[in-house]
Amino acid sequence: MAAMPVSSARPSGARVGVCRVGGGARAGVRTSAAASSAASSSLDLAGVSGGRVYNFSAGPACIYEDVLTTASSEMMNWENSGTSVMEMSHRGKEFMGIHAKAIADLRELLSIPDNYQVLFLQGGASLQFASIPLNLASAEDTADYVTTGSWGAKAIGEGKKFLKNANEAASTKSSGFTSIPATSEWSLSDDAKYVHICANETIQGVEFKTDVVPANGAPLIADMSSNFVSKPIDVSKYGIIYAGAQKNVGPAGLTVVIVRDDLIGNARADCPTMQNYAIMAENDSMYNTPPCYSIYMAGLVFDKLNKMGGLEAVEKVNIEKCAHIYDAIAGSDGFFNCPVDMTCRSAMNIPITIVNEDADKRAELEKAFIAEAGDLGMVALKGHRSVGGMRASIYNAMPIEGAEALAAFMKEFKAKHA
Ligand SMILES: *Cc1c(COP(=O)(O)O)cnc(C)c1O
Repeated sequence: MAAMPVSSARPSGARVGVCRVGGGARAGVRTSAAASSAASSSLDLAGVSGGRVYNFSAGPACIYEDVLTTASSEMMNWENSGTSVMEMSHRGKEFMGIHAKAIADLRELLSIPDNYQVLFLQGGASLQFASIPLNLASAEDTADYVTTGSWGAKAIGEGKKFLKNANEAASTKSSGFTSIPATSEWSLSDDAKYVHICANETIQGVEFKTDVVPANGAPLIADMSSNFVSKPIDVSKYGIIYAGAQKNVGPAGLTVVIVRDDLIGNARADCPTMQNYAIMAENDSMYNTPPCYSIYMAGLVFDKLNKMGGLEAVEKVNIEKCAHIYDAIAGSDGFFNCPVDMTCRSAMNIPITIVNEDADKRAELEKAFIAEAGDLGMVALKGHRSVGGMRASIYNAMPIEGAEALAAFMKEFKAKHA
């Protein structure tokens, strides 16, 4: 296998780090590294062309290629406005239109009921870990948290700074964050102001497969950063849904917060203005300068998802994509493993390990896997530093060909190294 780094071999000006969409071979220039590697591999990575790669990054992650093409064609002069979207006043009619359409398209996509507001905020999902208690509870109040992975652990950690009682109603930490505890096992508080879950744990690959209902009747708050708009959900089951955009939507810088009306207007007196849902809702998320370009890009994605047939259609492809990889694990006679319980395996983030009693050998094989995949144009497969191994993030914009290529590579790698 040629060891030439992809980056040094890529023609100058070619883009890195975003996967292509649309499938099938295309008359493009393959990177010389990918081409030379492919020559020593039986794999034909037809989708890797034009200097682009299959990007399995957990975030920022791949963006639909046709969305990038549209953004690129509109870069210099958006709809004859004479400026790029980045240069527009956020108070001008052009940007106000872009903003309003992005919200309308997201409302359509998720069938968001009228008694919910869509806020386009900043600070990432991480700032919401603080905004939620600041808007929904006083310092003396109680809130419940269900911890099924690293992000849920961060959410309760931040909650503890702002709440007298941030109660961990359930945690799967002792079993390595590989399952979702049944709602009947959650130790909920009668007086909880809310119940917080992480709908998809990006690092551990653990996903809630249904919309759950907490038995204490408290509003359910869900961090959906890494499975937002990946499948249909019933928004009415949630008090708040929030997501950083850089996983499944578009560029970083935008945080989408969908919040039920009755949860707006109860912020603490000392809640920072920028974190106050009521102020943001009253000002149409434009109390200050919003992340204009990220909103524009998110709007292009929401529009595309509606045109693809909505979230039923999107989910269908996502299930097919993850099945390729889970099947490759299952069919590897124990060479590969995914530690996550069958019932809650994420369709978006798939942790993969190589099974070997010899820890050094295992590390060596995993390193070889990541390097050889990289040579073939499949990048960012290294597992999170906290769990090791590999991880394939296959968000909406990862084309099915990318998942097929990875599954084919896994079979080939196993045949060579088992
Ligand atoms: C990435 C991620 C976060 C953190 O998002 P930021 O926007 O970087 O703050 C939080 N929760 C989940 C589930 C994530 O995947």
